[in-house]
Amino acid sequence: MSALQIVERPSPNFDARTRPIDLVVLHYTGMQNAKTALARLTDASPVAGDYPGPWQSPETPLDAPLGRVSAHYLVAEDGTVFQIVAEEARAWHAGASSWEGEGDVNSRAIGIEIVNGGHDFGLPDFPDAQIDALILLLKEILPRWPGLSPARVVAHSDIAPERKLDPGEKFPWIRLAEAGVSIWPKRMSMSFPPGEDRVGRVQGELALIGYGVEKSGAMDAPTRAALVAFQRRFRPQKIDGLIDQETQELLAAVSRATR
Ligand SMILES: [Zn+2]
Repeated sequence: MSALQIVERPSPNFDARTRPIDLVVLHYTGMQNAKTALARLTDASPVAGDYPGPWQSPETPLDAPLGRVSAHYLVAEDGTVFQIVAEEARAWHAGASSWEGEGDVNSRAIGIEIVNGGHDFGLPDFPDAQIDALILLLKEILPRWPGLSPARVVAHSDIAPERKLDPGEKFPWIRLAEAGVSIWPKRMSMSFPPGEDRVGRVQGELALIGYGVEKSGAMDAPTRAALVAFQRRFRPQKIDGLIDQETQELLAAVSRATR
């Protein structure tokens, strides 16, 4: 791996943080290419006609305004890293989201967009050069802020499970963990008494990790979505939102690793 090259591409889309940095949120761009994503992330008055894609209805007027968005960094497929917003400022990437009971995730997070077409474009692989660069970037960012650690690197789908799928089930979290910039806990062998408020126990573990679920004891939409997001991240080979033995053991392992 070579030294990290950072290209400045400043965006006007940011404001002031209201709390200290203690989270990194990883995204895929879900767009055609890096050029389009960079344009969108630096556009102070985006309109629908400039960003055509499967996310837009054909009836949408070309001049319909879109929300202004940004991120701190964008990592291209070839490993080029663009800095878009200074880490000290609040970038606009999380949207409606929740982590550890707090709604304003943008204020506490560093947002990294990873160029990848995502689910709308056939879920392409992440090239090695791109993941190598992301790892180097995280190795620079994590020691810079006392609130950050490998366990504080999360997916957009973790903080907005009912809206978001990114960076998706093909994202190589295990490679990040091997490099020391994320976590990949081993399943803990445990027994769970049958019938004993299984849903409530799972909700408790999800909430301990940070997911925005209430401990109601009843399987509701937020709980199902959080379970799916958890599996997408920690058991991508089977994403069904069901409470099985393996999911329960992984939940126990992850909640211990993040505490
Ligand atoms: Zn995202």
